[in-house]
Amino acid sequence: MTAALIDGRRYAAEFKSELAEQARSLAAEGARPGLATVLVGDSYPAMAYERRLRRLADELGCHYVGEAMPGDVAEADVLATIGKLVADPRVTGILVLRPVPPHVSEIALYNALDPLKDIEAVHPINAGLLSEGRPHFVPSTPASAFHVLDRYLSESGRDPAAVYERSNLVVVGRSNNVGKPAVLLGLARNATVVSCDVHSYRAGLLAEHVSRADILIVAAGVAGLVTGRDVKEGVIAVDVGINPVEDEVTGKVRLVGDLDSDSVRQVAAALTPVPGGVGPVTDLWLLRNTVSAAALPLRIANAWGEQHPGSQLLETALRTSRLPSTSPT
Ligand code: NDP
Repeated sequence: MTAALIDGRRYAAEFKSELAEQARSLAAEGARPGLATVLVGDSYPAMAYERRLRRLADELGCHYVGEAMPGDVAEADVLATIGKLVADPRVTGILVLRPVPPHVSEIALYNALDPLKDIEAVHPINAGLLSEGRPHFVPSTPASAFHVLDRYLSESGRDPAAVYERSNLVVVGRSNNVGKPAVLLGLARNATVVSCDVHSYRAGLLAEHVSRADILIVAAGVAGLVTGRDVKEGVIAVDVGINPVEDEVTGKVRLVGDLDSDSVRQVAAALTPVPGGVGPVTDLWLLRNTVSAAALPLRIANAWGEQHPGSQLLETALRTSRLPSTSPT
């Protein structure tokens, strides 16, 4: 068997034109979406991600604010910057880029976000809503993993809901930003979900769990962690990992995933490539959440009348939140 390659770039291109249209029509109604990023330090991947988001926001006609601070900045100054962005009406979505230096508490930064601008769903209110199965925002990376799965299943003539219900879904990695929300999204789709982490690996259990997966999402950040020997024939595998490795022949650095793609391709039904799989959809998903945050006051005003300023807006948003589709429409 040679697996189908799931083309995230194609999905992203389609998604982008729909999103651009939504952003344009919101701007015409006086609700232009605005993204703000907060970068602390000089992590190369975080800086590269910031540049991509700035470009994308610009292409979609969104307002953009990029706050960058040196790695030795005091936590209080980062919190003050977040406070400024929370108060800025032009900013509808705020992303705190990871990693932050060890002397700055990620949790403290997340707590300082306005839940209605918390487009990665890291504030406790949004993380709680996600675990209740009625998220206000779906975090971009796990949302994109399911977006590509949903699209692939639909395009291959299957009903995604029916497939998930009959599937063992194994998620490798349990970070708060990727693995854990992917588990919750799998549960919301009625899959039978198993979560693995570094302890499963050290206990020698990882391969055993992975071998039972009908659908596999790998987000560990370990190049080539899962090989063709580990997976079941016909598995659908989503590779979230992005790992820089030096090419033995050219000496150049290239990006590879957590799957050993050459061997997994011989066994799987389908897999996402790295690069070109989940990544391009993730960037757009973050902008989608920024756009939907901009649309919220209009949506609530249309549905509930004009009387929803400030805290009432949050209360109404929480009352009415439900699981959004991970499809672009
Ligand atoms: P983290 O480092 O925060 O988490 C890694 C997770 O993987 C942890 O839960 C860890 O377990 C687990 N893990 C580590 N080693 C192993 C192992 N040998 N076997 C099983 N589990 C293991 O990373 P993130 O979740 O932020 O990101 C994961 C990967 O996804 C990275 O490569 C990152 O670059 C990539 N990424 C890709 C995105 C995209 O759009 N494609 C977006 C965001 C991230 P434990 O909890 O026990 O320590």
